[in-house]
Amino acid sequence: GWRSRAAFKLIEIDDRFHLIRPGQRVVDLGAAPGGWTQVAVKRGASHVIGVDLLPVDPVAGAEIIEGDFTDPELPGRLIEMLGGKADLVLSDMAPNTTGHAPTDHMRIIGLAEGALDFAFDVLAEGGGFIAKVFQGGSEKQMLEPMKKLFTSVRHVKPPASRKDSSELYVVATGFRSERLAEVR
Ligand code: SAM
Repeated sequence: GWRSRAAFKLIEIDDRFHLIRPGQRVVDLGAAPGGWTQVAVKRGASHVIGVDLLPVDPVAGAEIIEGDFTDPELPGRLIEMLGGKADLVLSDMAPNTTGHAPTDHMRIIGLAEGALDFAFDVLAEGGGFIAKVFQGGSEKQMLEPMKKLFTSVRHVKPPASRKDSSELYVVATGFRSERLAEVR
């Protein structure tokens, strides 16, 4: 069985966009308790690494790194572990909410933008990116650099995502690394 209800969101997104393919190298940011990592393995990715601040019980066929995705040494370490750049970066990261709305808002924006920046560091040419964003968060500011660096960028609300939440997912494909200089 799947470890999280969130697994169904990735299943629904991937049934529509077919981004997880056999043989791929996949990084899953905010992996705990492991549902998305399970889905990536099940769909045939050859090398899956999940990253989370929290411990994750072992997932057969995947590796787990317990730590913060903003660790500056992480991109290099991941590329080394994967034996090359990643074909797909997934992020279902969400902050622990403080109850202080402005703080929570800033944290949400930070995570989504951070995940994008991280993807710019580790993605191979032609790679894909699926990340949780929030309506009214940073999804609009992120759109401009994403449109420059990916062939296709779309926002989706999978049926398994609660209708009353402002959560959305951005699905970007066709990473163009030669354009990185234009956004950095
Ligand atoms: N996709 C997961 C699944 O299917 O099991 C659920 C992910 S859960 C909604 C969000 C996760 O993001 C939490 O486990 C949290 O610890 C993680 N997270 C938040 N900030 C993080 C950070 N800075 N670095 C790594 N993980 C982070």
